[in-house]
Amino acid sequence: MSEMNAVMYHYVRPTPNRPPHGYYHLSLDDFKRQLSYFEEEYGFVDRDSFINFLRGNRDTPDGIVLTFDDALFDHHEWVLPELQRRNLWGLFFVPTGPFVNDRILPVHRIHALVGSLPANELHYELESVLDTEPSISGESRGVTDAYDEQSSSATVSEFKRLLNFVVAPEDVQGVLDRLEGRLTDYEPPTVSEYYLSETQLLEMVDAGMLLGAHSVTHPVLARLDEKRQRSEIESSVTWLDNLVGSQPVTTFAYPYGGEDTFTDTTVGALAYAGCEYAFTTESGTLAGRHREAEMFSLPRRDCNEFDYGSATFELP
Ligand SMILES: [Zn+2]
Repeated sequence: MSEMNAVMYHYVRPTPNRPPHGYYHLSLDDFKRQLSYFEEEYGFVDRDSFINFLRGNRDTPDGIVLTFDDALFDHHEWVLPELQRRNLWGLFFVPTGPFVNDRILPVHRIHALVGSLPANELHYELESVLDTEPSISGESRGVTDAYDEQSSSATVSEFKRLLNFVVAPEDVQGVLDRLEGRLTDYEPPTVSEYYLSETQLLEMVDAGMLLGAHSVTHPVLARLDEKRQRSEIESSVTWLDNLVGSQPVTTFAYPYGGEDTFTDTTVGALAYAGCEYAFTTESGTLAGRHREAEMFSLPRRDCNEFDYGSATFELP
């Protein structure tokens, strides 16, 4: 049986030169090794076969499809040249907020913080900020005992859980502003060092890359009411359509992407916005059975599920 895997990447950058923070990233050398490994063991799905598959072609192509989330600076600086050298293409999921608002998205402000400072310090300072938020009681935060270990993954997860799932989505930027205000030595990254530019996005399209939508502000869509979900989806699709022109955006990747991050309401909003399929971050292989019923919950596999794909995490 033929087997197609969509593989998911986020940060890909040279180590130890890892601006602007040390959050989980795949080293560029490992990325190159992994591409060679894929070439040898699986082969790549060419762009036309992938598009035909999405249009309902009966034969599932064999091989790997490369996907990259979040319009990170890395994708133009280091990924694109490597793909071009190997005559490959990728599917890039772009959150449009940074291009419209000139602000770093909360999800990435959180990554930059976690990649720059010990997690127990961040967690402590966040709890202090939340103590002053009238809408968030200690009880609604849930019981936590993750304070102690300096950068344990439990402390990192707890810090992220509070910001992504406890603080109301519309309050997150404000909470992060106050948190950063307490961290006197911390210098947040700028939009231009974090994301690629509109010009670079267009260069990617000219080089044969496909773009997909990924919301405006990268919220957990399931936490928003229908009106706001529609706005997140439609605004991001429209912005990309206006940028690219020639090639309407019909694909979406759910922010965070676990099965609990979207609902039937989300799927309805996607269909309304003209999207024909959507990727999750749930692990799995693409096969014919996904073509109809599951076009809005296509699985991907993290790069760390394959050889050479382990991420590095290093505080400065
Ligand atoms: Zn994302």
